[in-house]
Amino acid sequence: MVGVASPTAAFPSLETALKHHFGYDQFRPGQRPVIEAMLKNQDALVIMPTGGGKSLCYQLPALLKLGVMVVVSPLIALMQDQVDSLLDNGIAATYLNSSLDFQAIRQREADLLAGKIKLLYVSPERLIRDREINPGFLGLLNQLMQTVGVSGFAIDEAHCVSEWGHDFRPEYRQLSVLRQTFPQIPVMALTATATERVRVDIAEQLCLRDPRIQVSSFNRPNLFYEVRPKGRDGYSELLNQVKQHQGSGIVYCLSRKRVNELAEKLTVDGESVLPYHAGLSDETRRENQTRFIRDDVRLMVATVAFGMGINKPDVRFVIHYDIPRNIEGYYQESGRAGRDGEPAHCTLYLAYGDVATAEYLIAQKPDEAEQRIARQQLRQMVDYAETTVCRRRVQLSYFGETLGDHLEGLCHQCDNCTNPPPVEDWTIEAQKFLSCVARCQERFGMAHIIDVLRGSKKQKILDLRHDQLSTHGIGKDRSVDEWRLLGRSLLHQRLVDETTDGYPVLKLNAASWQVLRKQISVQVAVPKDFAPGPAEASTIEDTPEVAQLLTVLKALRKKLADQQSVPPYVVFPESALRQMAQTRPQTMEAFGQVSGVGSRKLAQYGEVFTDAIRQFCADYGLESDPGAARGRSRPARERRQAVGDTHRQTLELHRQGLSIEEVAAQRGLKPTTVASHLEQLIRQGEAVDIDQLVSRDRQRAIVDVLTELEHGSLTEMRDRLGSSFSYEDIRLVRAAWQMEQQP
Ligand code: ADP
Ligand code: ZN
Repeated sequence: MVGVASPTAAFPSLETALKHHFGYDQFRPGQRPVIEAMLKNQDALVIMPTGGGKSLCYQLPALLKLGVMVVVSPLIALMQDQVDSLLDNGIAATYLNSSLDFQAIRQREADLLAGKIKLLYVSPERLIRDREINPGFLGLLNQLMQTVGVSGFAIDEAHCVSEWGHDFRPEYRQLSVLRQTFPQIPVMALTATATERVRVDIAEQLCLRDPRIQVSSFNRPNLFYEVRPKGRDGYSELLNQVKQHQGSGIVYCLSRKRVNELAEKLTVDGESVLPYHAGLSDETRRENQTRFIRDDVRLMVATVAFGMGINKPDVRFVIHYDIPRNIEGYYQESGRAGRDGEPAHCTLYLAYGDVATAEYLIAQKPDEAEQRIARQQLRQMVDYAETTVCRRRVQLSYFGETLGDHLEGLCHQCDNCTNPPPVEDWTIEAQKFLSCVARCQERFGMAHIIDVLRGSKKQKILDLRHDQLSTHGIGKDRSVDEWRLLGRSLLHQRLVDETTDGYPVLKLNAASWQVLRKQISVQVAVPKDFAPGPAEASTIEDTPEVAQLLTVLKALRKKLADQQSVPPYVVFPESALRQMAQTRPQTMEAFGQVSGVGSRKLAQYGEVFTDAIRQFCADYGLESDPGAARGRSRPARERRQAVGDTHRQTLELHRQGLSIEEVAAQRGLKPTTVASHLEQLIRQGEAVDIDQLVSRDRQRAIVDVLTELEHGSLTEMRDRLGSSFSYEDIRLVRAAWQMEQQP
């Protein structure tokens, strides 16, 4: 059933329309096919992760078709944001919900009937009453049908129709009356839900008719995932990390109490923070949320109550200071970082004390079955935190998706991929541990076993005469923490069992005996004390000039946003500001080339921004329009600074004539990493000799496919070319080719 994006050229002007209205140069994966479906009046089911760009899937058709697009959206705050963003792009949009008075509603209805509006947002409560379309609204729809027309229905957050989803809303279930009442109008349902069951439910509940189904990958390549141990001094570590990060961030905690404590501590330490949890009044919550979205404060410390309906696209990091309850929750919460596609960072702090607290809370649940599920989910979460394989692979496999084969199971964007933890052979220690479990007659928990191993003379040990056991004191050479690490690892590798009745007692199983009989060895991944930052391979540092201009432009954006009472990202996305800082456009024409600058934004902001850039260049004696994105006319000094150290080393070796494999061997990196350095260097306009990397024949073949599938995915191109072509070949040639296409 899964639809595959096809790069048809049926609507050759779609890109032009995209640039004109939204300022973007290219569609994100999956957007084009569903937009085409909507233009052909076909139903569609759009499943894209957070930040995938769902809104555009109905917004662009709304502009290209006759009539009004009716968008059902569950959250009033979100509606307002969306409408603000659209208005700022010069797109006529409005909403109808319970927050408006009668007069305002009349005015908006009049505008709609006069054909002044292309997108109408409504809440499900406004649309449905007593299982029917609300008579007042039905009247409006009928009038619209007879006058300007209705171009489609878009059902946002469509998982709300499903009881299997996490946010069921009864009114959503009634939305099929739209289809029954207006069978000729196409329906598009959109959601970020990851589970198959909910997807099927959506199509059935909304009576979708032969929908175009677009399931995008749930991989979010711009997010860097890592897990850090939360030691005794977890707080200073967190503070340190927060200080290192730039931009907005969310710190999630498990309870209101911890939110309040942490928010207070961070404030004392000079951070700009607000708390958010269900214990605060509606008004305080709303206000704190707005101040965060508008960049008045940098950090939100919150419980999971925060996030639904927050579409702040420029959250740069999400930290889970306490372990989340399950993987799906973690994916959704951490996924609130980097919706704009720019690099962002997700950190989970793991402390076994927190796991114990979570287990305790689970044990308080009245329902046995519920407890079992919760325990299992928590265990999966701990497994994720402890895993030594690619974290992305673990997450995606949870959703039934596999990471592309060409990546060899590595994403290069998580701590385990960029900095694999050393695995040590702890077979002897495991034998000591397990035999101690046996000597204690499988009647004690981990803490006791460790006490015995470490030779403790606690009263309890003496009373039980466990100081007489042959295993008493045989583990003095390891710390308590090390024994815990081993014990946990044995549990996760199922090399020992633990009772689950709330009093965890260690029990040997068949595998334990294999270890004791020396039939299998035991490998333990020893966590690093402190993982270094994001993948060095994937970040290109800004030059001082770029960083400084970016700061200037951000301040200008904030000022303009405040004047209009909108969040800064409504004025320009972060990526657009960065591109401005890099290319320093000083004419309206050059400014219009920046991705994210559409016709309206050009008219509205072109002058102030180019003024600011011109001023900056004059102040610092910088040349105008360096063409930095292309890197052609930039002075050599600056060009050398534009890439990080590691890229420069790769470049040096490349220029000495070394092949990718040779560079990789010499630098102790993977060939794919070296290839990605070179690709970035090409995009920075550095002189990389593509002939040295890919033969002329192969270049020609790749360029042929590129021209044909200009907007196709790498996978499609590779399918076309055959498996003798590597993804690296294609990426390198594509980068070089795209650079040539630039004016
Ligand atoms: P979702 O609803 O799927 O979470 P949004 O629709 O809010 O995502 O889009 C996320 C961000 O991506 C927004 O800032 C949006 O403007 C941006 N975006 C959408 N489509 C494109 C595109 N084709 N090119 C660049 N940015 C895009
Ligand atoms: Zn990885």
